Amino acid sequence: MRYLVLSDIHANIDALTSVLADAGRHGDAEILLLGDLVGYGADPNGVIDRVRGLRVAAAVRGNHDRVACGLDGAEDFNDAARESADRTAEALTDDNREYLRGLPVGPLAVDDLVEICHGTPFDEDAYVFDEMDAVYALRTASRPLCLFGHTHSPLALSMAGDEVAFTAVTPGSTFRVKDGARYLINVGSVGQPRDGDARAAYGIVDTERREITCYRVEYPVDQAQARIRAAGLPEALARRLGLGR
Ligand code: ZN
Repeated sequence: MRYLVLSDIHANIDALTSVLADAGRHGDAEILLLGDLVGYGADPNGVIDRVRGLRVAAAVRGNHDRVACGLDGAEDFNDAARESADRTAEALTDDNREYLRGLPVGPLAVDDLVEICHGTPFDEDAYVFDEMDAVYALRTASRPLCLFGHTHSPLALSMAGDEVAFTAVTPGSTFRVKDGARYLINVGSVGQPRDGDARAAYGIVDTERREITCYRVEYPVDQAQARIRAAGLPEALARRLGLGR
């Protein structure tokens, strides 16, 4: 089985379209959605419609999904995030709002190998930024390969016994799950990368080979920025896409 890992698409239809086209060259795959389909970007309905037409093997909700569909308030959001959440809530069709409301809380075990969550397995909203967060997340994971998002930055950590190792994630990085070891991996964000690389990020899991590969792909950033400006969303949301921050 092959899974296409998509996290933090954030209503960026241009990035999603490029990722799906690029991922197609690796063969057929079912989709794993790690949350935050919407928020920040200009086309929430376009993204949800597209995703609903795909073969989704498992999906969890993100904090922006929760706020956009009214399950949660935007008190914890900064001004730009709150404004985009309000605009998203207004724009969503009833059908797509219901879809977001129905997204399950992570973590979710996909099979014997893979588990997905938005922030961490112990808290869907927690951010993994440093080694302590990562080790705690790994210890609470129920599968050897735990995939997460939320920070919008690629990260790979493995643990075998007490030995913990961070490995740099670069485009094409492959991680093979060794017997007895656990892995915590963020492939990065499709629609709003924050690691200084503006290209859209995604991953592919090959369960037979027990490995995951991380990819980056160029997409028409200027088109996504133009949509954000046309929708009257904060300029900062357009600018950051160009910076990958
Ligand atoms: Zn996000």
